[in-house]
This record gives sequence, structure tokens and C-alpha cells, in this order.
Amino acid sequence: MSDTDSTSQSDTLRTPIVAVLGHVDHGKTSLLDKIRGSAVSEGEAGAITQHIGATAVPLDTVSQMAGSLVKPEDFDLPGLLFIDTPGHHSFSTLRSRGGALADIAILVVDVNDGFQPQTEEAIDILKRTGTPFIVAANKVDTTPGWNPQQGEPIQKSLEKQSKRAKSKLDESLYQLIGELSDKGFSSDFYWRVQNFQKNIGVVPVSALTGEGIPDLLGVLMGLSQRYMKDEMAIDVAGPGYGTVLEVKEERGFGATLDVVLYDGTIHAGDTIVVGGANEPIVTEVRALLQPRPNAEIRTEKRFDKVDEVRAAAGVKIAAPDLEDAMAGAPVRVVGDRDVDEVIREVEAELADIEVTTEEEG
Ligand code: GDP
Repeated sequence: MSDTDSTSQSDTLRTPIVAVLGHVDHGKTSLLDKIRGSAVSEGEAGAITQHIGATAVPLDTVSQMAGSLVKPEDFDLPGLLFIDTPGHHSFSTLRSRGGALADIAILVVDVNDGFQPQTEEAIDILKRTGTPFIVAANKVDTTPGWNPQQGEPIQKSLEKQSKRAKSKLDESLYQLIGELSDKGFSSDFYWRVQNFQKNIGVVPVSALTGEGIPDLLGVLMGLSQRYMKDEMAIDVAGPGYGTVLEVKEERGFGATLDVVLYDGTIHAGDTIVVGGANEPIVTEVRALLQPRPNAEIRTEKRFDKVDEVRAAAGVKIAAPDLEDAMAGAPVRVVGDRDVDEVIREVEAELADIEVTTEEEG
């Protein structure tokens, strides 16, 4: 068994990839930290798996965190994979074949601050890439008179709030729903949404107290299971497809790639084709690396070598000749295909990315 097996309990369905977007300071990082932190404090071994550039939360942990909102028997998706680098700049460069790398997004909006320039930008990108999303109306704990209910589902917490606090929050939430409507999105409190393909669910949350986080996870799982199951059905054993998050110099390895694998499997020793600044790079995987759990920053061995990684997962690839590789570029395992064919695929994908980036500029 490899270290990554916990993220692919199902042999047929992969983990949906989740991205977090929103205006600066609206709480993207705090929200991710809270999800990671609460998962770990559930105390179970394997509660989460820290990948390169991503965090995998298996179904069992999601269900522990979400309580009655996620019953494991109702789901056959293996969990959720959160991309750790929040922000829409990374989001817009992170593509997979024909779309966004993320299957689903959380748009974080500070309830007090409402729509801001980067919220608008994020919405435009989500619209253009056709990425389903939910809105996390964050910082509900800052509502005047709020009575915090650590980690509780939002409706339970709302029962404990004064009339005044509730109506104050409602006011901000309706404002948000109005702003979404101005942008052409019909939305409502998530518990009133019947069809998430027609209406955006708004989930009131606090990244500080964890209120509403169970709901957020519940909605993400429900949406993925209901509307994305077909897209999650992949040939897990087939050749790996991924996207470069970052090109990084690592001591002892030279230039390495931090990659999110969204389809298939990659093995140590595989021949891969990677998008480069001048031309596609054809090279051989020397090592697949995952962060070593609880590694001390100063120790030399920050990574564990693994033999193979299955989608969806984050992984660091060490291989020769990666200096010219680019963030956002495709990575493909050649497998038993003709290498020239794969090079042409990578070239076509790169051309597509360049065109879209120019349109954005
Ligand atoms: P980012 O720029 O979107 O990643 O925002 P951060 O996660 O860095 O949060 C910006 C600031 O808002 C930090 O000082 C956080 O502690 C604070 N913050 C984030 N979420 C909440 C929340 O739910 N409640 C409160 N009271 N503060 C929050």
C-alpha cells in the first residue's frame, strides 16, 4: 500500500478538487486552517492527509465534522481535496483539460464587507469557467451581540442568537444575496435551495469559531455527489494527468514540480511530458514526494518518497530538466502511448492556456 491510498478509497470515483476564492482578508486562509485544524482535532489517525499543495479530507472525517449533515452511507465519493493556495490568481491559471482545475469552489465573502473588487473578479472567473460554487458568508461571529457556538451547524447556532443579532445578520446576508443577483446569480440560504444547479447556496460561517463549517462541508459533499459523480468516474489506473501549481528548487533534487493530479496514476520512473517555457519537456520521474508528517522544518528529510500517486492528489515530482517548466502547465504521463502524440496534446493545451490568459489581460 502506498501512502496515498487513504485518499482513494474508491477505485472508480476520485476526490472532487475544491478551491477557495475571495477578496483579500475575507478569510480564505483562516477557513482552510479551520477545516484542517478541526479535522485533526477529531483525533483520528489519518483524519486528513497533507499533500503537496493540497489537503485531503476523507469521507469519514468529513462526516465526523459535519455530524448528521453528512451520513457516510449516503456517499460514495472518497472525500474532498482542498487546494491549499487560496486566491483567484492561482485559480485562473490552474486549468485542466477544457476547464478549471477545481471541480467546485468556495467563494468567501466577509458578511460585513460584502462584495469587493476581488470578489467580483472571482465571480467573473467562476462564471467564465463554469465552475459550480457556493458562498461562504464568513465572520458571522462579528455580528453585534453574537453568542458564539464553537463548531456548531449554523442553524443550531442561530437558535442561540438574540433576535437583534439574527436580524442584523439577516440584513447582511440579504445584501449579499442582492449583490449576487446583480451579478446574474440567483442565490438563497443554502437550506432553502432545492436545485444547486440553478441557485447558489449561501452558507453563513465563521472561520474563527467554526460555526457553519459542518454545513459548508455538507453542502460541498452533497453538491459533488449529486451533480459531479460522472466527472469523478475516471480510469484511476490510467496514465496520470496533472497541472503544475509551482516550480520549486529543492535541495538535493534541483527544480521540482508541485502538481495536482486530477486523473489517472503517476509512478516513479514514468516518462512524462510537461509544458515548458519554450517547448514541452520530456523527462522521467526520478521521485514522487509527499510532505513527511510532522517533519521538523530544519531536518534534511522533509519529504517521503512514494511509488505511485492516484488522482486526485497533490504531489511533488522530482525529475531532470524541469527548470523551464511553468506554473499552470499540463503534466502528462506517457504510459503506453506514442510520446509524440502526448507532446502534441501538451502543445495544444498550452496554446489554449495562452489564448485564455490574453483574453483575461
Ligand atoms: P485571506 O486574505 O482571505 O486569506 O484572509 P485571512 O484568513 O488571512 O483573514 C484575514 C483576517 O480576518 C485575519 O485577521 C483573520 O483572523 C480574520 N478572520 C478570518 N475569518 C474570520 C472569522 O470568521 N471571524 C473573525 N472574527 N475574524 C476572522
